[in-house]
Amino acid sequence: MKPQKKRRQFNDLPREELLKKAEEVIRDYPPESKPEIHFKFTCEHCGERCTFEDANILYEKGECHACGKETEIKKGGFMLQFVLGLKP
Ligand SMILES: [Zn+2]
Repeated sequence: MKPQKKRRQFNDLPREELLKKAEEVIRDYPPESKPEIHFKFTCEHCGERCTFEDANILYEKGECHACGKETEIKKGGFMLQFVLGLKP
């Protein structure tokens, strides 16, 4: 097998595990790298994959950006993002 680039994407987990995992992942990075977790969920109405814009918050429900309907988030995934910025 060819080595693959490691992508900072995580598979769907139940809420509790997801939050635990997110905390673990964030702890691996120094605060100055400003890691941000963006939670993802799959719309139960149309199957669209949605990502929350607000960092580090896992809402109870999410509104689908495609169909506009709400999904109760029982499981989901997340992606890790770093805030790049110039020093003041
Ligand atoms: Zn939808």
